[in-house]
Amino acid sequence: MTRSLAEAAAEAAGCTRCGLADGRTQVVFGVGNADADLMFIGEAPGFHEDRQGEPFVGAAGQLLTRMLGEIALRREDVYIGNILKCRPPGNRDPLPTEIDACTPWLAEQLSLIQPRLVVTLGNFATKFVLQTTRGITSMRGRTYEWRGRIVIPTFHPAAILHGGGEKSRQFLDLRDDFALIRATLDAPVVVPEPDPVPAEPAPAEPEQPPPGERQMELF
Ligand code: URA
Repeated sequence: MTRSLAEAAAEAAGCTRCGLADGRTQVVFGVGNADADLMFIGEAPGFHEDRQGEPFVGAAGQLLTRMLGEIALRREDVYIGNILKCRPPGNRDPLPTEIDACTPWLAEQLSLIQPRLVVTLGNFATKFVLQTTRGITSMRGRTYEWRGRIVIPTFHPAAILHGGGEKSRQFLDLRDDFALIRATLDAPVVVPEPDPVPAEPAPAEPEQPPPGERQMELF
């Protein structure tokens, strides 16, 4: 039997799957509508998020909340989470071992919420979710099909704040990306026609590399 998002969050609150458990104030599992059509994925909690137990509550979070407002959405309408659920010390980049340890939480969130649209915030989340080495500047501005969902990559709001702010080209691009988010949510859902041709048998699972060389993917 599948459990609820709240049950998953309760278990995650005591997670010790990686070393970040030692330095955190609390686990920052995620916040918002457990039935959301739209889910945002950021990188990892920062100082304020670690203290308050909620993603995107610092300055970057305020910009995210404002951009949501510009497309007539509230934080409660969407789900907001991160790749890592615990704050890396000094806000350093997540380590591969931490991502591997934490990915099952994000995979469970996605499978319980089933968002139609996923917005990746910044380089890190975009590269991880779409398994690409391309940077956010070239990835943003369009939709991607990903495992039956739509993904829209956009700039991390912190990057806008540390860059030129509201006067920057990046801010205008962020605004365009939010307009694309709105348009994508408003577009009719296309249900694929059933395939009249019997499906081919599934190909055999590819051989897995040895554990040390494996790169964690979401599914
Ligand atoms: N940056 C992130 O990627 N996530 C947060 O929750 C806050 C800042």
